[in-house]
Amino acid sequence: MSALLEAEGLVKRFPVRDALGRRAGAVHAVDGVSLGVAQGEVLGIVGESGCGKSTLGRLLLNLITPDAGTVRFGGDDLTRLSASALRARRRDMQLIFQDPFASLDPRMTVEQAVAEPLRLHRIVPRAQERDRVAELLSRVGLRPELARRWPHEFSGGQRQRIAIARALASQPKLIIGDEPVSALDVSVQAQVVNLLSDLIRDLSLTFVLISHDLGVVRHVADRVAVMYLGRIVEQGPAEDVLSAPKHPYTRALLAAVPGHGAKAPPIEGDVPSPIAPPPGCRFHTRCPFAVERCRTDQPTLGDGLHRVACHLADSLPPPTPRPDRLAG
Ligand code: SF4
Ligand code: MG
Repeated sequence: MSALLEAEGLVKRFPVRDALGRRAGAVHAVDGVSLGVAQGEVLGIVGESGCGKSTLGRLLLNLITPDAGTVRFGGDDLTRLSASALRARRRDMQLIFQDPFASLDPRMTVEQAVAEPLRLHRIVPRAQERDRVAELLSRVGLRPELARRWPHEFSGGQRQRIAIARALASQPKLIIGDEPVSALDVSVQAQVVNLLSDLIRDLSLTFVLISHDLGVVRHVADRVAVMYLGRIVEQGPAEDVLSAPKHPYTRALLAAVPGHGAKAPPIEGDVPSPIAPPPGCRFHTRCPFAVERCRTDQPTLGDGLHRVACHLADSLPPPTPRPDRLAG
């Protein structure tokens, strides 16, 4: 499989200023991330909040510019495209946000919101707009008659369905969902996850799912990348990473999942500040297996299908499998 999306050595830091506006360091949001997403593949990016996964998602779409590194999409280096070439490329890349209440314009009816990308990217002639909107709404499980209503008339789950219809309108080659269900009621989350997984299957979508929820990721992802403090610490086929995790951080994340759909409680110890991440392995301040070397030497991800950035990956005791806890 050739990669549709390929990121190499991405780095993004956000300057932090003190009360007087002087530069007082930088948040190391993404620090040397490389990954590829093949056509038709679903990549899950998981990690606790603040690990840099949302920043990574925006870098992958070139919505923000990296300090270093490249993003290639369909062969083009997005960071080097002209503004107009990038605008044309936008049609192929869509983002679904976490908060369906913020991502829809309250002054647009559902029909206007879904028709906007159709018109912007000239997907169908004007005369066919209404029919296409109706089609898109039924695709996401909404009755076409709802098209004339306003966003405030809908529940969170329905609004996220509208946002998904809008994302599908331009027939994108890649969709990135940044925590697309985490703002929804737990009972509604499963419905929207099922919708996404049906759409991914029926439309052969290439999808990057950013989520702290391992149950959601397990449900849809073919491959998983686990992030900790701006770096990928483990990456591989979803089945391998989630059933036989090698990195102590992934193991801790999995052990903290009380059941499908529940939020992972924080693992022991605090996440160090991303302004001054620990040297060596960034997880060493919380890792139960840390040895002296972990405090000084940064482990690398290595090669192969299932990669892990841990000095002791091959000598750790096998994890306790908990398949019962991840059912679903
Ligand atoms: Fe733990 Fe060391 Fe492995 Fe980091 S490199 S995860 S500190 S054992
Ligand atoms: Mg986030």
